[in-house]
Amino acid sequence: MNSIELHAGSWQRLQDWRAKLPHALLLSGVRGLGKVELATAFAAGLLCEMPQPDGRACGSCLACRWFEQGNHPDFRVLQPEAQRLAEEGGEAGDKAKRGGQQITIDQVRELDDFFAVGTHRQGLRIILVHPAETLNRNAANAILKVLEEPPPGTLFLLVSNEPMRLLPTLRSRCQSLPVGLPSRESAVRFLTAAGVSDAETWLALAGGAPGLALGLAEKTGSDWMESLTQALGQGGRLEVIATAASLEKTLKAVKGENPLPQLVDWSQKWLVDLNLAVQGLPIRFYMQQRARIEALAGKSNPVKLVRFYRQLLKLRRESEHPLNVRLFLEQFFFSYRALFVE
Ligand SMILES: [Zn+2]
Repeated sequence: MNSIELHAGSWQRLQDWRAKLPHALLLSGVRGLGKVELATAFAAGLLCEMPQPDGRACGSCLACRWFEQGNHPDFRVLQPEAQRLAEEGGEAGDKAKRGGQQITIDQVRELDDFFAVGTHRQGLRIILVHPAETLNRNAANAILKVLEEPPPGTLFLLVSNEPMRLLPTLRSRCQSLPVGLPSRESAVRFLTAAGVSDAETWLALAGGAPGLALGLAEKTGSDWMESLTQALGQGGRLEVIATAASLEKTLKAVKGENPLPQLVDWSQKWLVDLNLAVQGLPIRFYMQQRARIEALAGKSNPVKLVRFYRQLLKLRRESEHPLNVRLFLEQFFFSYRALFVE
């Protein structure tokens, strides 16, 4: 399962443009939908010499081979330097933090050579820009200038998570394709096929965006998420000291950024579910834990629940720079346990 199947409607709209391509297309929508994959597949399909009936690239012609190797002469990608380095991974990934976060005018100027030479096979050249909101002002103006008198057979594919941050004049030059959330069923199928267990929960935690859900599931691993839900599921019987100690160990094994803010976010969502269950409403996030959450709801004190939810907002700030992770977790779990009467 891939982005085309997840967004069949959007893919069809892209195909409708094939007959008369605009000079600029803007795909927009929340982070983690697979918009870049969709735009890339569209570009590959346009450059392919024998596209399939549904517009997909054949995957075997010369153009497709160039495309897959990342050296199709009629295709360019504009993205912030930091993002490019991070995608390369390895040592380059370490350098990424120092790389630029914006798309600069120099990067746009480098396209001049690209525009100067004729296109190769399909009479078309494509520039993928993502995320388009990282175009700095000068770079955006330079693209606008190109769009005023576009070289023949040129298509800009802009992809944006935050289209309102684009220069309005640039936005108005683009044909717009808003990409929405895929259906829950297809997103769950996508995640399950990618090897994510408990796909429904991850999808709910990611607000329905499958790519984001996949990223969260891969980054977090099931370890500490499982430890957390198990701990929260204990309610009034939670062994605070032991749980905080073992969770601290699990969290220490997490590479990269501090996972505590994420832990507080997900606990907040657990509290939302608990609150819904107290009111007899269906829960939203932790589908697999429904029975447990409903049982806990019967033992919880609704007034304390609301108070704790507010306290979590404060803990969220502290979690960014905790002085002591163990103490933070203990304080958090003691307050949580006090919500329940056994
Ligand atoms: Zn092909």
